[in-house]
Amino acid sequence: MSDHAIRKIVIVGGGTAGWMAASAFSALLERSIEIILVESDEIGTVGVGEATIPPLIAFNSMLGINEDEFLSATRGTFKLGIEFVDWGAVGESYFHPFGPHGQDFRGVAFHQLYLRETARQPLPDIRHWSMSATAAELGRFARPGPTARPPLSQLAYAFHFDAGLYARFLRSYAEKNGVIRIEGKLVDASLNPESGHVRSVKLANGNDIAGDLFIDCSGFRGLLIEEQLGTGYEDWSHWLPCDRAVAVPCGLASPPEPFTRSTARSAGWQWRIPLQHRMGNGLVYSSAHLERRAAEDLLVANLEGKGLADPKHLSFTAGRRRKAWNANVVSLGLSSGFVEPLESTSIHFIQSGIAKLLALFPDRRFDPVERNEYNRQMADVFEDARDFIILHYKATRRDDSDFWNDCRTMDVPDGLAAKFGLWQSKGRLFREGRELFGTASWVAVLLGQGIRPAETDPAVNAIDPDIARDMLDKMRSSYRQMAEHMPPHWDFISRACLAPEAISG
Ligand SMILES: Cc1cc2nc3c(=O)[nH]c(=O)nc-3n(C[C@H](O)[C@H](O)[C@H](O)COP(=O)(O)OP(=O)(O)OC[C@H]3O[C@@H](n4cnc5c(N)ncnc54)[C@H](O)[C@@H]3O)c2cc1C
Repeated sequence: MSDHAIRKIVIVGGGTAGWMAASAFSALLERSIEIILVESDEIGTVGVGEATIPPLIAFNSMLGINEDEFLSATRGTFKLGIEFVDWGAVGESYFHPFGPHGQDFRGVAFHQLYLRETARQPLPDIRHWSMSATAAELGRFARPGPTARPPLSQLAYAFHFDAGLYARFLRSYAEKNGVIRIEGKLVDASLNPESGHVRSVKLANGNDIAGDLFIDCSGFRGLLIEEQLGTGYEDWSHWLPCDRAVAVPCGLASPPEPFTRSTARSAGWQWRIPLQHRMGNGLVYSSAHLERRAAEDLLVANLEGKGLADPKHLSFTAGRRRKAWNANVVSLGLSSGFVEPLESTSIHFIQSGIAKLLALFPDRRFDPVERNEYNRQMADVFEDARDFIILHYKATRRDDSDFWNDCRTMDVPDGLAAKFGLWQSKGRLFREGRELFGTASWVAVLLGQGIRPAETDPAVNAIDPDIARDMLDKMRSSYRQMAEHMPPHWDFISRACLAPEAISG
């Protein structure tokens, strides 16, 4: 260990962010670094955050976590994508799958072939050219192993899990790796007057905990990053007006499906996340357009089973911390910013923040070059996801409420406007840098919400229409046949990763 090396990390907060960070650091950093996690049982965690996206598979494997054990411990299910209901217009639905649509051909994007062919003679919805969407529609699942070949290798998946059980699972992993947990309420911090760095945090029982690097996982308030360092917050609520949520679990009416459902409502949208033992539900809404009581009534009226707890209300402001890393404090999770869970991105932001911090890990000199690069990369992560989420609100034909009229007619960020323009003229999409959502995701939402380009890319004209049509037919039937050979999702879970106490549908 060099003279300047970080010797002690203090993580403030034991929600998903705190325990993901503790798990990753304890597994991947030098063993000699002491890791302390402080959390308050009295304050508790936000208690939501149950749907994920495929990169979490890499997080598990980096930590050597067995997927079946993890799903059994968290009563998890598989997720192949999201079904969106009533977004483009009331009565319509589409599927945003993980993984690609079809296969590109001679350098021409698959969706261009699809668009030209469906213009010549209408084809079924593009979801039929996705392995994940086809399996989801049939309620099937199979895990594509590392040697899988197309079309099975195109099946991409993530997980739904119980947020409380996930934090517990990671806590046990991290504690086994030597992380020390301290139960207590942080009431203050002491800063170095010269550097402005945090020196120690003070607990209600009077104990002081000193450290070199502090990870703020304290939730929306950002106890260190904001309350101590006054970092500032970039507010995006003019683009993302939803600022409240109400959540309630209910019983399962049938075996859990391998996908999340998001149903647009008059002033927001409702999630439905199937787990092994219950259904997670919540309504995300704009308080300027819907009152708290009406939101709760709307959610409860749309549950599929008996409510299992009192509805829980949450408030938030879409946006991000101006600097995710300030001085010697790195914020992860809700303390670093929030965009609503429409595309299940927040847990991924935590994972991405951890990976970037490991790649730019500082020493006690805290060279600003590392911090600045981290902040630049995290700003991109948040803004890319933000734009993709705004797209869902902007690309609508709904005119049945003030909320949807406001969303449909709002100005959008420049990057999104440019992307939208390219799509509308010739259906072109470009994935920039390390953008999280690729072409298939944008195509799914744009077409799903009824936004068709005026023309196709002229490059598609080099492909003979008969060859294209034949290829499309063969691809579609290969997805269908493969899905029909997969076991039902619930059978797969029952065999591989059923929690001992889970209630079968
Ligand atoms: C309505 C809603 C739905 C969501 N759905 C999804 C989803 O489907 N998918 C997804 O990826 N993400 C989702 N998220 C985001 C996800 O919940 C969070 O990213 C994730 O749970 C991480 O939260 P956290 O650990 O940052 O904060 P928290 O869970 O709030 O944890 C904060 C921790 O800090 C501790 N703490 C706070 N103050 C003190 C103090 N003074 N002293 C000591 N300890 C303290 C608390 O006790 C707790 O342990 C959702 C968020 C919301 C609001």
